[in-house]
Amino acid sequence: MTAVDHRPGAATASTTTPLTTEAPGPLQDAREQLRSAVELLGYDEGMFQMLAAPRREVTVSIPLRRDDGSVELLTGHRVQHNLSRGPAKGGLRFSPEVDLDEVRALAMWMTWKCALLDVPYGGAKGGVAIDPRRYSTSELERVTRRYTSEIMPVIGPTKDIPAPDIGTDEDTMAWMMDTFSVASGHTVLGVVTGKPVSLGGSLGRASATSRGVVYTALAALRHVGCEPTSATAAVQGFGKVGRGAARFLDEAGVRVLAVSDQYGGVHCADGLDLAALEAHVDETGTVTGFAGAQPVDQATLLALDVDLLVPAAVEGVLHADNAGSVRARVVVEGANGPTTTEADRLLEEQGVLVVPDILANAGGVVVSYFEWVQANQAYWWSEAEVEARLADRMASAWQQVLAESTRRQVPLRTAATCLAVRRVAEAHRQRGLYP
Ligand code: GLU
Repeated sequence: MTAVDHRPGAATASTTTPLTTEAPGPLQDAREQLRSAVELLGYDEGMFQMLAAPRREVTVSIPLRRDDGSVELLTGHRVQHNLSRGPAKGGLRFSPEVDLDEVRALAMWMTWKCALLDVPYGGAKGGVAIDPRRYSTSELERVTRRYTSEIMPVIGPTKDIPAPDIGTDEDTMAWMMDTFSVASGHTVLGVVTGKPVSLGGSLGRASATSRGVVYTALAALRHVGCEPTSATAAVQGFGKVGRGAARFLDEAGVRVLAVSDQYGGVHCADGLDLAALEAHVDETGTVTGFAGAQPVDQATLLALDVDLLVPAAVEGVLHADNAGSVRARVVVEGANGPTTTEADRLLEEQGVLVVPDILANAGGVVVSYFEWVQANQAYWWSEAEVEARLADRMASAWQQVLAESTRRQVPLRTAATCLAVRRVAEAHRQRGLYP
């Protein structure tokens, strides 16, 4: 077997091109996190370079015929960051903010998330620069089908398995699965996860990310000596992740004092009536205007005097200018990359425990893995079985990250990244470098 020695001082090629220092943003944050892990693990620059750069990137043009007959050209990406431990895995995002560097960062975080939770995948992410709220359902279907057909050569159940992310949902996955299946000449359930349950989706997938966030939030609260039934929380973001997280926190006895979405926030010092709030959101499409709560802006919500803060929307919400005002004892990252590197440092100085995204929001990809396993075996599990297996994996990952953090005396993010990077590097070493 060929082993590649990446320990310090080991002989490696010295002709690697240094990665250019990119603008501040998620990719720079992701690479700095990787840098800290690589240094702690004692790996060399060659290993850093290999893990900092995606294995494969595809950028495609997506001509869209609008409902009025005009044609608009959109751009989409699929980035496969790493394939060492198995097929690439990660969501597809529809958002006007999508750009290649963001997709690269999100793909790298997927690699660490899958390795940390020990699901046999590499990491990937896809994105289309589009504001889905401005398009009809049939336009979004055409965008999805054309994007799928453009990236078809690089996806598949053993290659790269997309899933929902911001701006996409189970309908998007049904269209992707259908487009891929029609082109293949047979139904391929395992090509995407997060599908409707009636079409090979898994029971428990829709709520899995939120459930995982709440498992880790409850464990983290207990870890800092705060009993969940006497704890308070604020949730930033009320979409697929934040809404379920708020509900499950409430069910666990945590008083959720404030939530926000892209239109604004609401606050109630006695705790929000979550059932009534969800009914209001179903009716109006936003948390704003909810009777029985006061309006609150995002800056105030992030600085509320609560035990737990759950940023569950987008990257970079906690940054150098506002991290100093966070008063929560625990931050649990429902979103990917909500805390910049600078904010991480400030929160650590303030003694805030940050449970990193690659652990906290991993419930989604864990149940995506269960969905893929079920689809490949054509044998379906009960919801109780899915939830029990998810709880086991989350509990075990939490314990491993906590132990690594204690052993190395580093924050949870660094500990989690070290565990994940070591697993990926080990897979790479055992496979050997080809040719
Ligand atoms: N988009 C989700 C994430 O960021 C889920 C990815 C998946 O299930 O593949 O973790």
